[in-house]
Amino acid sequence: MDADVLVIGGGYAGLSAGALLANRGLSVILLERSPHLGGRASFAERDGFLVEYGLHANRFASQGAAAEVFRRLGRELEFMPVGEPELWWEGRFQPLPNSVPKILKTPLLPPQARAEAVAHLLKLVALPVRSLYPRSLHDITGGCRRKEVRTLLQVLSGIGIIAPDLKRSSAGEFAAFLKKALRSREKVGYPKGGTRAIITGLKGELERNGEVRTGISVTGLKVRGSLVEGVEAKDRVWSAKAVVCAIPLRDVPSLFGEGDLPPDFVRKYKALEPTAGIILDLGLRGRLTERSGLLVTAEPVTMGQFTSNIDPSTAPPGKALLSWFYPLPFWKVSEREGLEEEEKRLRGLLQEIFPGLWDLVEWERCMHLEMVDGFLPSPEQSLPYRPGFTVPTLKNFFLCGDATAAPGTGGDTAFNSALAVADLVEGYLRGKSH
Ligand SMILES: Cc1cc2nc3c(=O)[nH]c(=O)nc-3n(C[C@H](O)[C@H](O)[C@H](O)COP(=O)(O)OP(=O)(O)OC[C@H]3O[C@@H](n4cnc5c(N)ncnc54)[C@H](O)[C@@H]3O)c2cc1C
Repeated sequence: MDADVLVIGGGYAGLSAGALLANRGLSVILLERSPHLGGRASFAERDGFLVEYGLHANRFASQGAAAEVFRRLGRELEFMPVGEPELWWEGRFQPLPNSVPKILKTPLLPPQARAEAVAHLLKLVALPVRSLYPRSLHDITGGCRRKEVRTLLQVLSGIGIIAPDLKRSSAGEFAAFLKKALRSREKVGYPKGGTRAIITGLKGELERNGEVRTGISVTGLKVRGSLVEGVEAKDRVWSAKAVVCAIPLRDVPSLFGEGDLPPDFVRKYKALEPTAGIILDLGLRGRLTERSGLLVTAEPVTMGQFTSNIDPSTAPPGKALLSWFYPLPFWKVSEREGLEEEEKRLRGLLQEIFPGLWDLVEWERCMHLEMVDGFLPSPEQSLPYRPGFTVPTLKNFFLCGDATAAPGTGGDTAFNSALAVADLVEGYLRGKSH
């Protein structure tokens, strides 16, 4: 045996699961296909900027899922203070009404619309989340007859769970987010040092009782009966008592031979619809604004942050790093339909918000991404309907990542899945249950 546990994939999920298992005394080897770690949360240095893979922040900061992983490792994940979120509305930034007291006072909505918006939120919080998962926000709010209320809910669902289309946003996923947001003192945080702090912190913890191998692509799994006996990569086969697969779930079937996985699982993995969109990262030669909170637009729903105003270490002195995200339906990005117009629309919006922005651009990176978060939190893909962490026909094979049935969306799901899978793997190997 090469190790107690082999982890495939070195994104948030694989690194977290590997670090947690190493911390519990199990030997771990992690195999990552790319030359660098981090997956969709990776980072690179560019002309003195620390450029992440688009806008990255952590919901609920020290009360969120990444911080919980670090706590279980006996470490603290430090967060930088983030400013209050602001909404671009009628030509200027205004405080984003993102809580019941703020909605009741906001000048953005007429009084009756405020009451209607609050009534919708209270209903969502009052109803059992389980009953809401299969229903859409459109359905639960009766289609939101008032346009201003609909727009506000689109914004809140867009930034909270990355599902701005109310017809495709699960009321249960949004209600679960709302409940957590109501309990949590901190709504969002940016880790000191960015995603690099998370990735290097987890790598360091894993390496206390294991190895991280980059540049190794797993090409197949050797299954015998109910066990995965080997992991094929490059010119050799690796073996371990348990295998944690932390690659995007849609790609998992490609590692198996015909008939190794139950057909309904293959169908479920392959049918997963991720969130998608346009990412624009800009290195600016000057500081355009001091704003340090999430900046949001309503029509269309887009969001951004001056990352260097939150953590100055992400840009050289006097310069600024701006990251913007325009969520779009997966089909639109994958079929490239009308994408150039959408990109133009985003650029025009930024020009309107920050006149003079384009004169300050030192470099830019624009990406049309088919996968941002592993799943769109639609009614059909809400928590009870997502794939679990195990496959019933395989005893020593575990699934981890941001499309599994762990709570949250995006990075939260990835971290939460790792917490769950670490317990399952330890239980399997030591006969313990948590
Ligand atoms: C632009 C952008 C912005 C985002 N912003 C936020 C945010 O603000 N907050 C938030 O919570 N989430 C955010 N997310 C989502 C978050 O980044 C992801 O949910 C998270 O990184 C997913 O982690 P993962 O480990 O599940 O998957 P991945 O990061 O995809 O990791 C999978 C890893 O497996 C490797 N791999 C794949 N196949 C193989 C193979 N055959 N052999 C070996 N290795 C393999 C890949 O190279 C990759 O490193 C954002 C995502 C993007 C793209």
